[in-house]
Amino acid sequence: MKLEIQSLSKVYPNGNKALDEVSLHIESGMFGLLGPNGAGKSTLMRKLVTLLEPSSGKVLIDGLDISEHRDDVRKMLGYLPQDFRFFSNLTTYEFLDYGARLSGMRESKIRKNAVDQMLETVGLYEARDRKANKLSGGMKRRLGIAQALINDPRIIIVDEPTTGLDPEERIRFRNLLSTISSRDVIIILSTHIVADISSTCKNMALLSNGKLAYNSTPENLIDTARGKIWQMQVNSDEMDRVGSLFPVTTTIPNDEGWEIEVVADDPSPFKGIQVEPNLEHAYVYFMDKHSNNKIIDIE
Ligand code: ADP
Repeated sequence: MKLEIQSLSKVYPNGNKALDEVSLHIESGMFGLLGPNGAGKSTLMRKLVTLLEPSSGKVLIDGLDISEHRDDVRKMLGYLPQDFRFFSNLTTYEFLDYGARLSGMRESKIRKNAVDQMLETVGLYEARDRKANKLSGGMKRRLGIAQALINDPRIIIVDEPTTGLDPEERIRFRNLLSTISSRDVIIILSTHIVADISSTCKNMALLSNGKLAYNSTPENLIDTARGKIWQMQVNSDEMDRVGSLFPVTTTIPNDEGWEIEVVADDPSPFKGIQVEPNLEHAYVYFMDKHSNNKIIDIE
């Protein structure tokens, strides 16, 4: 599977430039699209699932231009939008059965098998008779991914999947996607949560103000922050000063004030000890270098 995004731009009718000449090459496996809110991630996802026309540029799936082959492309796609909603009266089983019918599975026996199997895969078989809109947040997300996967898509697009989930459900959801990614499929995971990407994605891109700011592996991004992460002990006066000079990624209160981690090429006039960077540090370092906004929107 190959997805090529070529010089894609989108200007909304009100003049907002949400995407600016974005080019990306994505192959099978799990791909993370990271960026702060407003970076253009959802706009890009909506374009990929043919819900939006670009202002310019193209997207090719295995060489097919998606604007010219909309119906074929939709058959290959599974999409879990950010604001996925459930119809009020359907049970979990009925909901997924409905999704399966919409995706063209007409034969009831085949459909029943597929729905049962998918409910097993996402861990909702026991909850099949419960009303879908009464499920917990994590279960709803899993049912969402089940409907996105029911027609065996080749490209799976998941927008902000773990927002609002507790840590256990987040991990469960990531593991589920990771299992699916061992097939010959492309999974694009769009998120502002760094941890969603670090644990699962082979390759990633960073969007900032509609532009592609980075495209490589999470490990390479981490390397860019090596030697730039400083741990230090500060009191409350120093804390204000440090915070006005550098991005602070961690603050842990203790008896003398706070133990903090600061992202800086050189933390002078403060002193600290260097610590190993993780993807969160690297994201903050990168965004601080490449945009004028200090990034505070990480989890
Ligand atoms: P993200 O998903 O990264 O948060 P979006 O793609 O939702 O980013 O938004 C990118 C930019 O485009 C933002 O400035 C947002 O306000 C703007 N935008 C998104 N949707 C619309 C729309 N329908 N009309 C006008 N502007 C929009």
